Amino acid sequence: MAESDSKKKKRAPKTPELLRGFRDILPEEAWYWQHVRETAARILSDYGYGEIQLPILEATSLFKRTIGEHTDIVSKEMFTFLDQGGDSVSLRPELTASMARAYIEHGMFNRPQPVKLYSVGPAFRYERPQSGRYRQHNQLSLELFGSGEPVADAEVIFVARLLCEQLGLDATIHVNSLGSAEAREEYVRLLKEYAKPKRSLLCEDCKKRLTKNSLRLLDCKEPGCRALFASAPLLVDNLDEESKKHFVSVLEHLDESSVPYELDPYIVRGLDYYNRTAFEITVAAPPDDVEGADAVAAPLAIGGGGRYDGLVETLGGRATPAVGMAFGLERLVSAFKKTKPQPDSEKAPQVFLASLGEEATKHAFTLFETLRASGIRVRASFGKSGLKSQLELADKLGVVYAVILGQKELLDGTVIIRDMENGIQEVVDLAKIVDELKKRLKKSR
Ligand code: AMP
Repeated sequence: MAESDSKKKKRAPKTPELLRGFRDILPEEAWYWQHVRETAARILSDYGYGEIQLPILEATSLFKRTIGEHTDIVSKEMFTFLDQGGDSVSLRPELTASMARAYIEHGMFNRPQPVKLYSVGPAFRYERPQSGRYRQHNQLSLELFGSGEPVADAEVIFVARLLCEQLGLDATIHVNSLGSAEAREEYVRLLKEYAKPKRSLLCEDCKKRLTKNSLRLLDCKEPGCRALFASAPLLVDNLDEESKKHFVSVLEHLDESSVPYELDPYIVRGLDYYNRTAFEITVAAPPDDVEGADAVAAPLAIGGGGRYDGLVETLGGRATPAVGMAFGLERLVSAFKKTKPQPDSEKAPQVFLASLGEEATKHAFTLFETLRASGIRVRASFGKSGLKSQLELADKLGVVYAVILGQKELLDGTVIIRDMENGIQEVVDLAKIVDELKKRLKKSR
C-alpha cells in the first residue's frame, strides 16, 4: 500500500453534523412534548376533531396552487426536488394544503359537515435559522371544513385559546379580517398607491413585495417600514359588507364566550388562501431571546390561522368554506416549559436492580420485568459488573431502594433490599419482593 494511501486511511472521517436549522429533541424534553400533545389531543377530541396522519412529501403543485407562487414560502423556502420518476415533489411547508387535499381525495364532503380534523407533524421551510425559527419545525394543525358561519371561526379560536389556557400560557389573540378576495384586490391597489411614493424608504424585502405579495407590506417587522405603514389605509376600513358582518359576528361570539382578543389591522398571514378572519396568537418573547439590556423583543407568534373558503375549490373540490389554525409546537413547548417545571415524582425511578455474577444477571432480566409490570419505576444497568459501580449509579439516579441479586441470593430464593438513604440492608423472600417494595415505597412517600 502506498504511504499516502495509508495516511489517508488513518484520518478518521468527520462525523456528519446536524443540518443548519434542524434540531434533535432529546429525551429530557420528551415529557413536555408528550404533555402538550396529550393535552391538545384531549381537548380536540372533546370538540369533535378526528386525528388525520398525512405524508410529509406532496406534489409541489399542491403548495403552488394553494399557498401561492409568489409567497415567501413557495418562492423561497420550500425543499423541492425531482423524485426518481422525474416528478417535482416538496416537503410540506405547512399542513393545511394536505388536509384540503385529503378532504377532497377521501370524499369527506359526503360526511356530515362540518368535518373537523387535526394533525401533528413536521413542516419544512428553508428559512434563515434564528432563535425560535427552524428549517424543520412541528405543527399542530386543526381545520374545520364545511361551515362558513362566524361561529366556526370563533370555535377554532376558542379551542386554540383553551389549549393555551390549559398549558398555563399567558397568550394574546390578535384578530383581523382580510375581507373577500375581490375586496382585497381593491385594497391592495390602494395600499400600493400609498406605498409607491415611499419606495426608496422601504426595506429590500418590501421593495419586492410592492410588486408581488403586496399585502405582506403590512406585517413587515422592520421598524422603518412599520412607521411608514402606520398611517396606511387599513384592510378593516375597506371590507365588503358581507365580510364586515361576518367579522362583527365572530367578535360577538368571542365576547359572548369571554375570549379576550386584540384587534390588529396589521395581521395579514403569509399565505394566499386566507379570506375574512385572520388571527395570530402570541406570547411574550422569552427573556433569553432579547438582545441588549434595554431591548424589548417582539412578542413571539406561537400560532396563527384564519378562514380559507376558496381553498378546497382551488384544488378542484366542490366549494367548501373552511377555517383552521396551526400552532408551532417548538414555540408552544418552549413557552409551556417556562410555566411548568416537569414534576419530579411522576417519572423519577424508585428502585435500582443490581445483580452480581452471570447467573444472577441472567435472572435479573425476569425480575426487572416483574417489578416493571407491577408498576414500580425500576432501573438497572445489566452491563455493569461491580456492586460498587451499580450502587453509585443507583445513588445518582436518586432511587429510594436498591434490590441486590447475587449468586447466593439466587440459590436461596431471596434478594437484598438496600435503603439508599441510610444504607441498611435486609434479606427478603424473592417471591415477596413486589409486595415488600410497594409497602416500603408507600411509607417512604
Ligand atoms: P404559519 O402558518 O406560518 O403562521 O405557522 C404557524 C406557526 O408555526 C407559527 O405561528 C409559528 O409558531 C410556527 N412556525 C412557523 N415557521 C416556523 C419556523 N421556521 N420555526 C419554528 N416555528 C415556526
